[in-house]
Amino acid sequence: MSSRVKGVESVQSSVINSLKVAARSAGMSVLLLLGGSLTAVHAQQDGITLNGTLTQGSLIRGQVAPDAIVTLDGETLALNSEGKFVFGFPRDASLSHTLNVELPDGTTLVRDITLTKREYNIQRIDGLDSKMVTPPKAVLERIRQDNVNVSIARSKVTDADALFTRFEWPAKGPITGVYGSQRVLNGVPKWPHFGVDVGGPTGAPVTAPVEGTVTLAEDLYYSGNTLILDHGMGVFSTFLHLDSITVKVGDTVAQGEQIGTIGATGRATGPHLDWRINLGKMRLDPQTVVSGTPE
Ligand SMILES: [Zn+2]
Repeated sequence: MSSRVKGVESVQSSVINSLKVAARSAGMSVLLLLGGSLTAVHAQQDGITLNGTLTQGSLIRGQVAPDAIVTLDGETLALNSEGKFVFGFPRDASLSHTLNVELPDGTTLVRDITLTKREYNIQRIDGLDSKMVTPPKAVLERIRQDNVNVSIARSKVTDADALFTRFEWPAKGPITGVYGSQRVLNGVPKWPHFGVDVGGPTGAPVTAPVEGTVTLAEDLYYSGNTLILDHGMGVFSTFLHLDSITVKVGDTVAQGEQIGTIGATGRATGPHLDWRINLGKMRLDPQTVVSGTPE
């Protein structure tokens, strides 16, 4: 969770424009689809389908024959009964990866994946009062407990497959903050921003980007009224700074169903929706799962 310091939140969204896709694999047939600000790659060959953006911070959804064994850089990925799987690349992931597929008939397929490197917006601010940089001691225990609750809410791996449907923007408005940007306050690098911010008036609707089950609906110190949706197989959406939450833990909500309203609760400088995507603990860029703009 990023710390918010009054008056210095100004994150630019230009970084996304410089993103490109590199899909390098011998004989791999690649179809590039220009979908809004990010370029998605749908690559299919020898029965391997990959759907996503081959860049840092990306969530990739794939499918192979059921009962195949899929490993990424030597680590086995979970497959559902249809042979679908998901993996991600963190903000600062190395650029070369290997996907290995062992088909039920014994054939082994190897795919080299080369990611494009992203340029994140880094903002340096010096001469700040130290009180603005560090949270007050009195709230440290609360922040610790908040973090425990959030990681519990994102710990379950269910076999829901909503994550394989097309995501829609959860709110309407301009993009006012992007994934990966970072502030360096008084020379100290702060936690990078891991969400996409959509500006909007307090009270404007926030809707489920795809179907999900509510695993957390709580007021947290930094992120205010916070809602977490489980989309299945370890993929979660988190919505921060909500003015109101209109669903409760355990509810299953359909794509497009209202789950709350835009607000400025917690350490926010103005009303906006901060939407995040996680694969377990891995923090990924929502703009790699949704296309177009939220306006
Ligand atoms: Zn934000």
